Amino acid sequence: DTIGENLARTVAAHGERDALVDRATGRRWTYREFSTEVDAVARGLLELGVVKGDRVGIWAPNCAEWVFVQYATARIGAVLVNINPAYRVHELKYVLDHAGVRTLIAAPSFKTSDYAAMIEEVRPGCAALLDVILIGHQSWHDLVSHGHDLPEVALSPDDPINIQYTSGTTGFPKGATLSHHNILNNGYFVGELCSYTEQDRICLPVPLYHCFGLVMGNLAATTHGACIVLPAPGFDPIATLNAVAEERCTSLYGVPTMFIAMLAEAGDLDLSSLRTGIMAGSPCPVEVMKQVIDRLGMDEVTICYGMTETSPVSTQTRADDSLDLRVSTVGRVHPHLEIKVVDPETGLTVPRGTPGEFCTRGYSVMLGYWSEPDKTAEVIDSARWMHTGDLAVMTEDGYLMITGRIKDMVIRGGENIYPREVEEFLYTHPDILDAQVIGVPDERYGEELMAWIRMREGASPLDADAVRLFCTGKLAHYKIPRYVHVVDEFPMTVTGKVRKVEMRAAALELLK
Ligand code: ATP
Ligand code: MG
Repeated sequence: DTIGENLARTVAAHGERDALVDRATGRRWTYREFSTEVDAVARGLLELGVVKGDRVGIWAPNCAEWVFVQYATARIGAVLVNINPAYRVHELKYVLDHAGVRTLIAAPSFKTSDYAAMIEEVRPGCAALLDVILIGHQSWHDLVSHGHDLPEVALSPDDPINIQYTSGTTGFPKGATLSHHNILNNGYFVGELCSYTEQDRICLPVPLYHCFGLVMGNLAATTHGACIVLPAPGFDPIATLNAVAEERCTSLYGVPTMFIAMLAEAGDLDLSSLRTGIMAGSPCPVEVMKQVIDRLGMDEVTICYGMTETSPVSTQTRADDSLDLRVSTVGRVHPHLEIKVVDPETGLTVPRGTPGEFCTRGYSVMLGYWSEPDKTAEVIDSARWMHTGDLAVMTEDGYLMITGRIKDMVIRGGENIYPREVEEFLYTHPDILDAQVIGVPDERYGEELMAWIRMREGASPLDADAVRLFCTGKLAHYKIPRYVHVVDEFPMTVTGKVRKVEMRAAALELLK
């Protein structure tokens, strides 16, 4: 199926059930109404002259129009380019040029970001950009004013329909080109592992522009006739919890830091409708997982691991996995995919229990990086295995543990150090709230460890000697950080990941 064909099936089966609720404006649509809105946008794009393969950008915080545009572009075979709402002028320009966006649909503004002004600034220099449509303005009303009859457009499930930029955790974002087949199947299987049916109502405080929202959220919902609930344009813990309580949501998504914020606000709200949810993006501390199950009642919450390039999910815990497995692993392989862990040097599969690079193969592997065949060839080998750059260990039972990124691994005097291990040890200090460990250049050892730590409220900052003393005798000597830097916040991506590239650059300045 294409995404449009799949949506048509859902409309036929569940036309009168809720498809979408936009809490910020109080609007809601049944599947039949939703599909009419989608077709109106699709028709409007055709009227503008958008044809199959043309790139259509969407630059907006979460809103109903975002979802309409996602399905409308798929309906006519245009390539959706979802743009990070946190981007500023130079990043916007990079993406518009890199993807060759022809039509850009944007929110006029959000919080302190004046999108309309930024678009006007870059527009003269963007040769490919022909149309700009502002949601809620006249240009949007014009777009959807042509009715909703659609001519037949010949589409194939293998057509590219989406360019998703990676989070940019390790450098400049890369544009993963994905097909109907890639993301529709992945959304479907995520929904299967969450046991979604048309009874489910999925609360999405996560950004739609990222695969977490648009595939694991939207596509998992629409392939199962479930309802998408958008609590607010940006992440707002209170609005999210109210949405869960008032809409009787059964599923809730977030990265661990979002769940921490929500747990702090849960008060005595009635959240008893929650059954499941997804936590992804980075490892979840055990305490947080326990409270998500106990306080939020998400007994069946699952952990997903994946990356933009693989549509995204490769492994997922199952609802009946033990708490321990849901904290210490990212679950088992997804249906219809292959996975292996290899020695990054030799490419040979390593024995279970031995760390190596995680690789995956199957329907989920992207078509390639947009217009960058060389970069594609660096990550997808001739047998179509995607080399993820993540370090992992597979247990005897086939559960995967992510131990870090190859790029973050520190080699000190010939010893491989996984920063994650040192970070987990530092968390056990009663005054340390959070810790991140990076490698910094060192003349003698090649690299040395530097720990960045955030102190708990009221605790006085620890210096390097105090941290080293705490580690002595408990960590191998070469894993004890040489430098310690106390901070209030770590540099983060919008998707809630720590940007170690930025930390490494800052560390060079600190050591000068
Ligand atoms: P870039 O590729 O631009 O550096 P990125 O890799 O962070 O950024 P994404 O595709 O959004 O961009 O994220 C995928 C990465 O996130 C994975 O490669 C992995 O390192 C990390 N990740 C995803 N899920 C988990 C998880 N459950 N636990 C730990 N790490 C995870
Ligand atoms: Mg990546």
